[in-house]
Amino acid sequence: MGTIKAAKASVSKKTYTVGGKTLTEIRESLLANQIGGTDGVGDCTTAVKVPSISKFDEEENSKPKQKGMVDWSVTAKAGPQIDITATITLPALKSDKDLSAADKKEWQRFANELSAHEDLHVAAGQSVADEIAKELSNMKATGSGKDKDAAIKAAVAAYVKQYAAAYGGSKVAERVKKAHEALDKKGNTFDLDDSIE
Ligand SMILES: [Zn+2]
Repeated sequence: MGTIKAAKASVSKKTYTVGGKTLTEIRESLLANQIGGTDGVGDCTTAVKVPSISKFDEEENSKPKQKGMVDWSVTAKAGPQIDITATITLPALKSDKDLSAADKKEWQRFANELSAHEDLHVAAGQSVADEIAKELSNMKATGSGKDKDAAIKAAVAAYVKQYAAAYGGSKVAERVKKAHEALDKKGNTFDLDDSIE
């Protein structure tokens, strides 16, 4: 198995600028300019695109259920892949030249933690894509007919139904959203600690 693969996430990074001469000013700048995505001061969106399946491997079942009929099963032929496009948005400091060494260190801590968290969102999207790749590789539908053509036609129709039930409409987007929400339940509050000043 494993005919359908998930590509490695294609990640692009964006920033928005914040500034200030002290951590308190930078913190205010963060709150004023934050993009307001999943994590307020940072965001990661992941779009998982499940390919449509139109080419199949065919296999005859040796024991048809009904006499005088043939049964055939179809599975996805290797080739199509699941794509993930991720966009991470993080704050970037305009300048740190006015900051003390301790302030710079605190900014770095904050920026690193936020960035690491957004990377986890990419991983969450990737794991949904990997799961779907496994499911699609295993997805199989069977049809009966008087001859091979009729049985394959019935099998493909059953496959299309199964595929739509699993990935139709907004089902994939909802799964991705749930994965992100599960991650954020573990904590997604990132604060610049200006109490050190
Ligand atoms: Zn988050």
